Amino acid sequence: MCARSGCANRLESPGRAGRRSGRPALYCGDACRAAAHRARTPAVTDALRRAGALSGDLLSAGEQWSAHLAAFTEALNAAR
Ligand SMILES: [Zn+2]
Repeated sequence: MCARSGCANRLESPGRAGRRSGRPALYCGDACRAAAHRARTPAVTDALRRAGALSGDLLSAGEQWSAHLAAFTEALNAAR
């Protein structure tokens, strides 16, 4: 069956001559594949945007942490 929600078409039989990749087809045709990719793109873009924001937070947290660690090491060395 076609992987696009709402489409009940059967897939072409696998192993048909002319298929370039070895991956099994997910969609019954180019129209369904394009529609499914269009529907999926905003979620992917949103996930990437959130991942980018998270890595920014992590980087600034890491910078703060290493600054604290440097100060701590310095104080430790001074106490010796
Ligand atoms: Zn389809």
